[in-house]
Amino acid sequence: MRKVLAFFCLLIIFLCIFLNYQKKVNVYNNEKSKILSKISLSDWNLKLVNQDHEISSDLVKLGIVQENLYVDERIVESTKDLLAAAVEAGYPLRIISAYRSIDDQRSLVEEGIERELSKGLSYEEAKAEVYRFTNRPGCSEHHTGLALDIKEEVDRENGKSTWLKENAVNFGFILRYPKGKEGITKIGYEPWHYRFVGVDVAKYLEKNQLVLEELVEQLEKGTA
Ligand SMILES: [Zn+2]
Repeated sequence: MRKVLAFFCLLIIFLCIFLNYQKKVNVYNNEKSKILSKISLSDWNLKLVNQDHEISSDLVKLGIVQENLYVDERIVESTKDLLAAAVEAGYPLRIISAYRSIDDQRSLVEEGIERELSKGLSYEEAKAEVYRFTNRPGCSEHHTGLALDIKEEVDRENGKSTWLKENAVNFGFILRYPKGKEGITKIGYEPWHYRFVGVDVAKYLEKNQLVLEELVEQLEKGTA
């Protein structure tokens, strides 16, 4: 009798776990179809530029956000809002790099290779080292004017604050190359590189731990 009771108890527990899992899957699927129905592969804010998606034109209508730092004019306001909110929260930010032309990228790569060569690496080793964190000219997201390299000015309590990481999505920015997704993005973890995708998409990606490549894949499947 005890064995039968124990069996039924276990059965009920497994059933509860399964139903809870199903509920989560359904919530995710509903949310997924809701967001996917609102966006499309041709949306300017979803432009995918990476090693497999090279662009030949770096022509972008630019707007200024800080001295000598330009972004796509459509994200000037969001960028300024992010910077202002960070100051207000006590975690001021500094933009290190924003829009870069294909020529700028070429110079950056060449300078990087020179730097690595001076450390005694061979040319091939130097190139490989530079390409760990820097995309080939034509393959950098910075050509779109939608990417920012951001430094946090305040390092609180041994190190880093988490303000930017936690709040960027509210302004439409995502941490573009997170830890654990290197196999998909093909770029090492870059805690400084943020990319504008819009608030709804940013929140969706963050909540579901997805990178832009994965969203584009979902969209391609949805429209196939
Ligand atoms: Zn960057």
